[in-house]
Amino acid sequence: MNLQEASARAAELRRLIEKANHDYYDLAAPTVGDRDYDLWEAELLRIEGEFPSLADASSPVRNVAGGVSDGFAKVRHDPPMQSLDKTHAKDELAEFDAFVRKTVTDFTYVVEPKVDGVSISLRYEDGRLVRAATRGNGTIGDDITANALAIAAVPRELPASAPRVLEVRGEAYMTRSGFLELNERQAAAGLEEFANPRNACAGSLKQLDARVTASRPLDLVVYNSGGAGCDGFKSHSEMIAAFRSWGFPTAPWSRRAKTIEEVFSAIDELQEKRHDFPFEIDGAVVKIDERALYPVLGATAHGPRWARAYKYAPERAETVVESITVQVGRTGILTPVAELRPVELAGSTIARATLHNEDQIARQDIRIGDHVWIVKAGDVIPAVDSVIVEKRTGAERKFEMPAKCPVCGGETKRAEGEVAVRCVNPACGAQLRRRLEHFASRNALDLKALGEKVADALVSSGMVKDLLDLFSLDPAALESLDLAEGAEEPAGGAAELLPGFSRPTRKFGRNAQYLIKAIGEARTLPLHRWLFAIGIPNVGVTVAKDIAAEHERFSALAGSAVLKNVVENDAKKGKERLILPIKVEAAKAVLAFFESEYGRRFAAQLAALGIDPVSEKTAPAKTTGPLAGMGCVLTGTLSRPRGEYAKLIEAAGGIVQSAVTSKTRYLIAGENTGATKTAKARALGTEVIDEKRLLELLG
Ligand code: AMP
Ligand code: ZN
Repeated sequence: MNLQEASARAAELRRLIEKANHDYYDLAAPTVGDRDYDLWEAELLRIEGEFPSLADASSPVRNVAGGVSDGFAKVRHDPPMQSLDKTHAKDELAEFDAFVRKTVTDFTYVVEPKVDGVSISLRYEDGRLVRAATRGNGTIGDDITANALAIAAVPRELPASAPRVLEVRGEAYMTRSGFLELNERQAAAGLEEFANPRNACAGSLKQLDARVTASRPLDLVVYNSGGAGCDGFKSHSEMIAAFRSWGFPTAPWSRRAKTIEEVFSAIDELQEKRHDFPFEIDGAVVKIDERALYPVLGATAHGPRWARAYKYAPERAETVVESITVQVGRTGILTPVAELRPVELAGSTIARATLHNEDQIARQDIRIGDHVWIVKAGDVIPAVDSVIVEKRTGAERKFEMPAKCPVCGGETKRAEGEVAVRCVNPACGAQLRRRLEHFASRNALDLKALGEKVADALVSSGMVKDLLDLFSLDPAALESLDLAEGAEEPAGGAAELLPGFSRPTRKFGRNAQYLIKAIGEARTLPLHRWLFAIGIPNVGVTVAKDIAAEHERFSALAGSAVLKNVVENDAKKGKERLILPIKVEAAKAVLAFFESEYGRRFAAQLAALGIDPVSEKTAPAKTTGPLAGMGCVLTGTLSRPRGEYAKLIEAAGGIVQSAVTSKTRYLIAGENTGATKTAKARALGTEVIDEKRLLELLG
């Protein structure tokens, strides 16, 4: 086959595959068998492998798996991706207004949030995304197409109403909630946490492996023309409305203003709302709406003369680092924490801020006694922004990470490639307390009577030396166990069930009975709850469910072939690599757990207790009904609450899963279901159906 023949055949195959996808996903009326589909896919992959110039990024076969690129190709921006001139005070904006009015008359302003993310440019040809690029130096940026395709909010295809060639610009960002979760995962894995959502977003876009990007909670707001396809718009607002109608996410807030006074009140209103957006904003952008005036006003080398940024003063507060303490977490990680002189910041009193690790402290040169500025990272986590060096008196002291665990006195280690220092004593009381708390938490074994204080009492009394000691607690001993002084915070509604539980001097009493009963019930909880409860790094609630869905029972996890497969598959290059429902870090961590001495002992103890948690899918489920034994996943916007559908599915014998796995029979896709999701489902052999079809199946 020569290049010309290959190109023709590849185009033909893409057309066939896309039609099959459309019939299958959108119309729920498959027109080809799986075998033909697989053969086309394999042939296309082969051609793209042989003729790399034909391997375009939006190819249906590349779209599913997400490619691995070797570094980033460079993209020239035409027109350049400019910055914005900035103002920090209203009188500076008034000067801007005066300048504009000297040049043009009769115009309207638009005020938009200034999204604090990473600016990107998206180019569409023939209605498909052909290139995504970062701003870079404004003229030349990085080609991040593969990564942009991994962001669900980035449209892959545009409707026929959109121009054939279109370039739009906007901001990729990480949601605030996603940022917090990501940092939790990073910390549990002993990796560096991200300073703020913007850094996390930038890091996620610069991944050489698009699958990492896909695992990050990224989103998009589009707010600018990128040249091509945008000439016809008279006004900016009209253009943004068109972008929205073509499927681009646009800012959820904007105001039009005739006068500079109206601009001022819009930016005040926006400032009030600044914490209500899913993205962080660092100010407002004031633009002229009439696009015909842009060439009249022109641009400087830095930015357009028809727009100005107005930056809000960062919300920060000054305080003093009174001391630095060290906390020991569940996985033994030692975390230095700044104990601050309490101070008000954005609506709450802040007295502590995590300093993450010793590298971070050294980088910021934070010393005990320092005056510091504190901010809220991701608008939530208090963080030390910077040291006010001018206020140093010379009495400040440098912090040193303790050589031994501050709780158990055990040895500490810093693993290669990790920033975290861990206490490696498996019997460390601090770790055991935190593990016990986690073990009892809501998504784990849900032992409501076991909170922080009870965990402390159980560990310090020596009644619990191992998590599984819970299962052989002596009720009498438990009843006679005194809770330490101070008020117990009852966890998750336990107070109503246990009158008096919160009274400081009260003994366990009936609470002991209650705890014993809950422990008894925990014996039969499904596998994913147990797997999460153990507290293996990288194994959160969702991951635990994914892994549990692929295993029969707990005893099948040690040395699991499924998990080994995931790890081996990861070592494969490019196209041979499959998408598997289990994350490789998680697979590695679970295998390592069962190989460790601690894990082996845990498994043996559990077996001795006669406990072998069963995966939900194999748990004695309803064996009759139209959906008997079938895994179902609900996604997208549905016309009824998900819980309601979940009940109906279960009543019909189905098993509601949280994520698509190879065991999922149906993906019930509501409105706004991302293409990645359905493609992934399809790749795993899951049928994608709509609500109507579900109701038919339910009868
Ligand atoms: P800076 O990154 O501080 O130089 O500010 C300029 C940048 O603000 C632009 O390059 C855009 O990436 C970003 N930006 C965020 N929101 C907007 C918006 N609504 N309109 C224009 N630019 C925006
Ligand atoms: Zn320790």
